[in-house]
This record gives sequence, C-alpha cells and structure tokens, in this order.
Amino acid sequence: MTTHTHEQIKLMVAQSACDGCTRDIVCVHIAAIAELPSRFGDFHIVAFSNNQDGKEHVAIIKGEVYDAEDVPVRLHSECLTGDVIGSLRCDCRDQLEASLKKIGEMEKGIVLYLRQEGRGIGLINKIRAYSLQDQGLDTVEANIALGFRDDERDYSIAAHMLHSLQVKSIRLMTNNPKKISQLEYYGVKVSERIPHILPSNEHNRFYLETKVAKSGHMIDFHGKEHFSEQSDLPIVEGMTEDQVKAMVD
Ligand SMILES: [Zn+2]
Repeated sequence: MTTHTHEQIKLMVAQSACDGCTRDIVCVHIAAIAELPSRFGDFHIVAFSNNQDGKEHVAIIKGEVYDAEDVPVRLHSECLTGDVIGSLRCDCRDQLEASLKKIGEMEKGIVLYLRQEGRGIGLINKIRAYSLQDQGLDTVEANIALGFRDDERDYSIAAHMLHSLQVKSIRLMTNNPKKISQLEYYGVKVSERIPHILPSNEHNRFYLETKVAKSGHMIDFHGKEHFSEQSDLPIVEGMTEDQVKAMVD
C-alpha cells in the first residue's frame, strides 16, 4: 500500500539530519517511515527525531498528505496510564481511539502522537499529581502544588513535524483553542476546526468538570462537552445542558 506520500517521505529519510542546528532553533528530522496496518485502518507511521526534548515523536498517516491542503489532524499527547493501561482517571484512550478511528475512515489525515506525558510534566510527576488528587486536590491545584503550570505542553515540535511532512494546511480536530493558536504561531495554516466528541464515564467526570471550570476550554452547551488530559475537552455525549451548566457554575 505504498503511496505517493510514502515515497516522498522515504526520500526525505535519506536527507541528512539537523547539521548546524543550534539549540535555539527547533530542528525536527524524519528518521523512518513504514506501513502500519491497524485495527483502526491502514496507516503509515513516520518517526521523528529532534534537537529539543530527546523524545521520539511519531505521525500516524492516512492517505496522501504530502503537499496537501485541509488535512484533518489530531494532536495526541502520550498518556501511558490511559492509552496503554486503560485508566479511567482521564479520557485519553477514548480520545486516541476515536481520532484513529475517525481518521482511519477518512480519505486522508494525520494523528501526531506526542511524547509529552502528563500534560508535559512527565510520568513520575503525573503520578505524584494523582496522589495529591487522591488526597482531595483537583488536577489544576495538584500541578501547581508540584511547581508546574496547569499545562506544560508545547506544540512547536508538532508544528515542525507538520512542516516536515510538507502539509500545506490542516483541519484541526480539537475543542482546545490554545492548540490552534500555538500551531498558528509556529506557522501552521489551520483552515478549520473539527470538534472532537467523546462519551464520558463516572470516573472521569470530576476531571472533566475541573477542566471545564478552570482551563478555558470551549463548551458547546448543546453538544455537551468534555475535556481530557489531552487538554482537549471533548464534547461529552450523555451529559445534559443543565449538568454542564452546573459544572461551570
Ligand atoms: Zn490520560
């Protein structure tokens, strides 16, 4: 299932990495590409290196995205406890699966899987924050108690990944206005926002309520929204307008 995009990216893998890049300049390099058939559809996976965070980020690609416009894109921040273990403290796994499924059914699209665990504070600190939450703090208070901002994520590398793939413009799947403004700041053309909708469950509801009340996420009172560790406030199915209003109040 080699595509034109696959062929173009293979050529880029051969190009030399970040020669002469300094720490002040974000330098992202395409390191490898392979086919990735999955339960959510047939994708290609592209692995990146960079000179900023020492992490190995990936793009999961459907169809022809090279030099394309209006490409549906989802940014997902790694969540070991949710994505892999199925934790119900957040909705990350639901968000990841929903985005892979949605893009898997589309003609083209990209999920960027960003290795910024725990909203950028790392796994150990995330577990420390969970421990504080077990003692009664909410998610924002817990991060601040540990000396972090509410959200330490940074999307400059994500923007450079999209530039590396030579995507001309994107339709971003998000309910988070910060993601759009950050990508635009780094030169990504965002032609449209696609709302990202998820079901809620009883375990993640308190988390979602905190996000809505404290983090400035978009709320669609008719669609019922949500959020997540993804910073993303998915629209929440199954919540009434009154329930959402009660949370925000
Ligand atoms: Zn999570």
